[in-house]
Amino acid sequence: MASIDLASRIERVLWSEEAIIARTRDLAEEITADYTTGGSARDAAGRPLLLVCILRGALVFMADLARQMRMPVEYDLISVSSYGSGTAPGAVRLVKDLERPIEGRDVLIVEDIIDTGFTIEYLRRNLQARDPASVRVCTLVDKVARREIAAQVDYVGFALEKDAFVVGYGMDYAELYRNLPYIGVLKPEYIQ
Ligand code: IMP
Repeated sequence: MASIDLASRIERVLWSEEAIIARTRDLAEEITADYTTGGSARDAAGRPLLLVCILRGALVFMADLARQMRMPVEYDLISVSSYGSGTAPGAVRLVKDLERPIEGRDVLIVEDIIDTGFTIEYLRRNLQARDPASVRVCTLVDKVARREIAAQVDYVGFALEKDAFVVGYGMDYAELYRNLPYIGVLKPEYIQ
């Protein structure tokens, strides 16, 4: 199989591996402090915070975030996809549900990037309807200028003020580039 040099396809690096690690550590500290304020990082039934990873983009971020958190956590995985063209704008479909109920639990949704806001709002409402104790959202990247619906985002790694399609550190273009250790912008010739 011919190897592809993914790094040579990156026009510019927005956030280096070191920058992502440092920011993730700060976020983990902030989240740990928030959930341990008031005495306990556990819900009324003694269960720890549940991280909900949105597949597949948030996998890398959640793995690093979870390992920086100085409190017990559990995690579960969920997968959604956007409906194709021809359907209502922003329509989102559940592809893989959580393995376990979340009733009474503190839930933190972990996302790679928020763009229009449709995906995260769909998921927040979907999970909220299952009667958790709380639902918050943590995203590594927030494309603030692209928002089409109001979305409540509690923790943001990096804000992307100017629109760009980014890849790496879990994020893909046509399923490639997820394993780049940094986040960058693709050269235009590699976007169709
Ligand atoms: P939203 O529903 O428009 O907020 O879209 C969110 C989803 O679109 C994310 O979970 C990503 O899968 C994908 N996405 C949006 N922008 C980018 C990007 O710049 N790079 C990679 N994926 C992106």
